Amino acid sequence: MQALLFDLGGTLIDRRRDRDCARWWAAQGVRVEPRAVAAAVYRADHRFMEEAPDLWHAQGPAFLRRYWATVHRMLGLPPPPADVCAAWGGSWLRHPDAVAALTLARTRGARLALVSNWDATGWDVLRGLDLLRHFEVVALSAELGREKPDPAIFLWTAARLGLPPDRCTHIGDNAWDDAEGASGAGMGAVLLHRHPEWAPLPRVPSHVPVAGDLRLAVVAALRSAAALPRFAGQPA
Ligand SMILES: [Mg+2]
Repeated sequence: MQALLFDLGGTLIDRRRDRDCARWWAAQGVRVEPRAVAAAVYRADHRFMEEAPDLWHAQGPAFLRRYWATVHRMLGLPPPPADVCAAWGGSWLRHPDAVAALTLARTRGARLALVSNWDATGWDVLRGLDLLRHFEVVALSAELGREKPDPAIFLWTAARLGLPPDRCTHIGDNAWDDAEGASGAGMGAVLLHRHPEWAPLPRVPSHVPVAGDLRLAVVAALRSAAALPRFAGQPA
């Protein structure tokens, strides 16, 4: 028996701030290629995940100003007022491959859990997007008082599943929180990197496979779980 753990934001769902940004500029009479905005947002997301993980988690007004200034520098445009940008990306959407990937994992016999750095709204987001029913265990950082990459949140999840960490593989889009965090807890990890053409491959431990979509990530996770080395801190 093995379990697959999933990150939420950027992995199963996204909020398409790029779309709102492109629409706002169009309303100002400035034509911006939507794909260029999507690429800039993706690149900025990955830059901040790597360079400012604490700011990235907090996502307060100071972070948002820096974030949108970075996106607009990439686009060669002046950043709009902060309150305009803060309203972008208000609603979360399921990634088109999310349900197919979760279904694939379940039909291959994996037990599923969700591990997310999220506030208590996570439950409503999961219910609203009809994702909650896929998971046996849901670990939200705000409820546990521990955030990824802290191994504690991964170990809590494994304990709730009743499995040792080395029977669990975590899939997520953040090299530090997800890949490093799960590895530090003695789990397998697969990094989801949907757009290598937009942002360079983040640094990940050499044993971590990188997948370009969620179904491939599930396939890689199921494979790697079968061949995981035992964690050095665990009894044989
Ligand atoms: Mg994420």
